[in-house]
Amino acid sequence: MNINCQFDAGNIELVSGDDPQDIRLRVRKDVGDEHLQWFYFRLSGMRDVSCRLIIENAGECSYPKAWKDYRTAISYDREEWFRHPTEYTEGQLIIDIVPEQDAMWFAYFAPYSLERHADLIAESLGYERVTGHHLGLTVDGRDLDMLQFGTPGPDKRNLWFIARQHPGESMAEWWMEGFIDRLLDPDDPLSAVLLEKAVCYVVPNMNPDGSIRGHLRCNATGANLNREWHEPTMERSPEVLLVRNAMDALGCDFCLDVHGDEELPYNFIAGAEGIAGWTPRLAALQAQFCATLANANPDFQRVHGYPLDEPGKANMTMCTNQIAQRFDCLAMTLEQPFKDNADRPDLEMGWSPERCSLLGRSAIDAVMSVLPKLR
Ligand code: ZN
Repeated sequence: MNINCQFDAGNIELVSGDDPQDIRLRVRKDVGDEHLQWFYFRLSGMRDVSCRLIIENAGECSYPKAWKDYRTAISYDREEWFRHPTEYTEGQLIIDIVPEQDAMWFAYFAPYSLERHADLIAESLGYERVTGHHLGLTVDGRDLDMLQFGTPGPDKRNLWFIARQHPGESMAEWWMEGFIDRLLDPDDPLSAVLLEKAVCYVVPNMNPDGSIRGHLRCNATGANLNREWHEPTMERSPEVLLVRNAMDALGCDFCLDVHGDEELPYNFIAGAEGIAGWTPRLAALQAQFCATLANANPDFQRVHGYPLDEPGKANMTMCTNQIAQRFDCLAMTLEQPFKDNADRPDLEMGWSPERCSLLGRSAIDAVMSVLPKLR
């Protein structure tokens, strides 16, 4: 029996594996010692053997409520990730399985590798409508890439789309794949019209260091990037400072920050209702965006979400609040589920890369519906 996680985004610690019915595992903490929940590992050498995998410290993870009704993502080919019944009891996550092949992979959600990220950047740069910007380096010295779709002009709006501040929320980059694919499509008339009127600045992965390290929420210094937008520094959170500086230089009329939520089994928007500069104009724009997205894609809904911040009580270290206030613009956080969309459940696949990608495509419709009123 072998358990290993020494690969891109791997995270697990083998405590003991002598008894196939009592394989004991622990999720590793992010650097910074605060967060843990993301896991991704390979089990090999147990074909046709009944195994019980027990993640001992599931109850100590950042969001223990997330394990209720959770189903583990598993794969034999690392392409198709299907869901497997998973039990959460007394702080432990228990997976009973008989592997059908000599090796299989387990993950919190379908992983999105840095190699795939590099492919996404490379493919996009092959299109004439795309300009690549190297914003700078991450803490570990990786490239922080931004893609620019369309050409700036005096009457053009500047739209920002960022994902994976929290690296364990891999659904955010699956969303980006669909979104970018549609922006690149020369036969898609809506994308063409959008790029006639606006420039889209896209950062598909804000946290490549955390992604490859198998973190849930932090970068290589232990900074939770979505708590760094008020005072980012090159030492602690260069990823945020570099993107915020680019926004200051290029302008920002709209920002969508794509995430995943561990607990809620829905797709929803969290807005900047608590900022000092919240206005009826921003509220109307947000309502329009959400209504159009729900129409374009029934996997998005407007009933379930976070409680609204009280007026003036917004946490200004978060991207959405900082950007909405800084630019007096529509800025929102899009949350997708780790589990499934409870309104339209899929027991076999759960909330899947395919559905993330389709939701990303639908965002073009929603953006177009607010575009004429952004300024
Ligand atoms: Zn997040």
